[in-house]
Amino acid sequence: MNIHEYQAKEVLAKFGVPVPAGFAALTVDEAVEAAGKLPGPLYVVKAQIHAGGRGKGKFKELAPEAKGGVRLARTLDEVRAHATDMLGNTLVTIQTGEAGKQVNRLYVTDGVDIEKEFYLALLVDRATGRVAFVVSTEGGMDIETVAHDTPERIHTFDVDPATGFQPHHGRAVAKALGLTGDLAKQAQNVASKLYDAFIGTDAAQIEINPLAITGDNKLMVLDAKVGFDSNSLYRHKDLVQLRDETEEDPAEIEASKYDLAYIKLDGNIGCMVNGAGLAMATMDIIKLNGEFPANFLDVGGGANKEKVTAAFKIILSDPAVKGILVNIFGGIMRCDIIAEGIVAAAKEVSLSVPLVVRLEGTNVQQGKDILANSGLPIVPANDLGDAAKKIVAEVRSAA
Ligand code: GDP
Ligand code: MG
Repeated sequence: MNIHEYQAKEVLAKFGVPVPAGFAALTVDEAVEAAGKLPGPLYVVKAQIHAGGRGKGKFKELAPEAKGGVRLARTLDEVRAHATDMLGNTLVTIQTGEAGKQVNRLYVTDGVDIEKEFYLALLVDRATGRVAFVVSTEGGMDIETVAHDTPERIHTFDVDPATGFQPHHGRAVAKALGLTGDLAKQAQNVASKLYDAFIGTDAAQIEINPLAITGDNKLMVLDAKVGFDSNSLYRHKDLVQLRDETEEDPAEIEASKYDLAYIKLDGNIGCMVNGAGLAMATMDIIKLNGEFPANFLDVGGGANKEKVTAAFKIILSDPAVKGILVNIFGGIMRCDIIAEGIVAAAKEVSLSVPLVVRLEGTNVQQGKDILANSGLPIVPANDLGDAAKKIVAEVRSAA
């Protein structure tokens, strides 16, 4: 689960991470009022969307030369003008895709003078299974570009969970940033507090870009992108409150209500599978046959009629879907029950695209008979390879 920048900064501040003062605003008047509570004379008006690259982004509704989603202001009138420009409009950044994201919230912060910008992130390194620090002197820029053009400017190390964060980790961060004296001490402190926040919130990532040295030699977090491990949210009721469903894919929200693991992808073949491993294999074999999956969807072990119906509806809500491949292994759940679910669901949603079904497991023959006698144009498949070939052929002949 991802959260907005202003929420991330509030969470980090609780762990003692230095952030500029600021207030969230939902209206232009609230934005001006927020600025009025700050000392000035410099304010920053920031679009709150779950995507980075806002500063260099463009608003669809504004002239191409208009400023992006992070703007400096020197008067309350300027704050008003920026807030008016941003609220309700669609911000397109390198991370939003062409459709962009509507800006419904702003964050008005105390503007600081920036001497230097750094990059500092904490994430889970899947290879080592540890929390890793990623540190770079090239802050304020797109880190993917830095990684591509000047990988030597990115330093990474991970933390042994048995010992936790140690002073030498802090020194490693300071060294990677080329800091000495008081600034090195501040870097050690920020790194240690960020680690506390990471562990304390069960974060999946904390990305600070930029971590800035201000005009008065203070190290400050000016931008923060924070995401949490969804599997641990049950023990962070306060963090769950920060969820903004308008930032999430509506189909994924719908899927989570039915306990379906659904992730939208770019292809045109909808997949309904039980078990994450089988789902991955199904996606792979579709690609092997030259087409792309429209989604990852694991209906789980107890795939009953309600779940299958919900899954069909979610898959079909994606206009890109030109065919559906159902690949179910009936283990605990018998194939005949699943087949009944598929038939009932297909009738209920009045299926408009080709449907290939591969069933295997307990009572498979009864299951196949139910599909064959359903009167629905369901294409049966014998194994996974056969199923993939058939759905690809169906989708191509329909195109
Ligand atoms: P992003 O574009 O979505 O990554 O948003 P950021 O919050 O990182 O802001 C983009 C850029 O705006 C930063 O890299 C800074 O250069 C600049 N910026 C952000 N806050 C301040 C501030 O308080 N003062 C100044 N001078 N620049 C700022
Ligand atoms: Mg940034």
